[in-house]
Amino acid sequence: MKPLVVITGASSGFGRAMAIEFNKVGYPLLLIARRIEKLLELNLENTICAKVDVADKAAFEAAVRSAEEKYGLTDLIINNAGVMLLGDIATQDPEEWKTMLDVNVIGVMNGMQIVMNDMKAREHGTIINISSVAGVNAYGNHAAYSASKFGVCGLSEVARMELSPYNVRVIRMLPGAVATELLGHTTSDAIKDNYMDWVKATGVGSIKAEDVARTARFVYEMPQGVIIKELHITDTKQDR
Ligand code: NDP
Repeated sequence: MKPLVVITGASSGFGRAMAIEFNKVGYPLLLIARRIEKLLELNLENTICAKVDVADKAAFEAAVRSAEEKYGLTDLIINNAGVMLLGDIATQDPEEWKTMLDVNVIGVMNGMQIVMNDMKAREHGTIINISSVAGVNAYGNHAAYSASKFGVCGLSEVARMELSPYNVRVIRMLPGAVATELLGHTTSDAIKDNYMDWVKATGVGSIKAEDVARTARFVYEMPQGVIIKELHITDTKQDR
């Protein structure tokens, strides 16, 4: 049996595509999201589905420990769960900033802390944190989202420094715009329209969640002693 892979945010978009990608080559999975019905719909073999908010560390850890009892220690965690609530700093509800920082930053740190000590002890394991091109570039109306994704880049760098002596890999992936449910949670229709105008004007749309998922499997399946530290993956037509 292959080792356990934990994927957060597996109920749609990248996480869903990653679940299918890793399942098709036989990895046992723990899939995490709040909409458990979407996880169950996938109907994948050797898969445990857990209704967990990644910001709730106790619930997150309980789900991981219970999957580990069945499938052995986690060898890969993909901290993918995230929310993007675009808004103008001048007017956006600060609750939306807090939601993004709780899920996109604290959720990632929770996932790392839950698995990293066992990985260090056995000098084996991989953590993939999903940041964004908004984790290195500035885009209008992205302030709090960008703060969270720059945060993921920063915390991944520090974690890599701390874990590389133990042969544990910390990889950050920075996708560009891909059509998923992500934009749909932004509350301003004007900002959503503006985003879609940019999508039309640039012609991005070739890249799919499946491309991101295949890439995640590729970086993971490199030998443990080899790391692709950072990966930018965007539509060819997206220049930044
Ligand atoms: P989706 O909105 O399609 O998927 C987001 C996933 O995160 C869902 O499965 C959602 O599940 C889950 N999620 C959200 N909040 C929580 C929470 N509190 N606890 C557990 N799960 C949660 O978006 P994408 O697939 O596009 O996004 C995946 C990641 O990729 C995110 O981190 C996003 O920021 C990043 N990204 C996306 C880009 C894009 O253009 N699509 C570009 C760059 C980065 P549920 O609601 O059921 O809990």
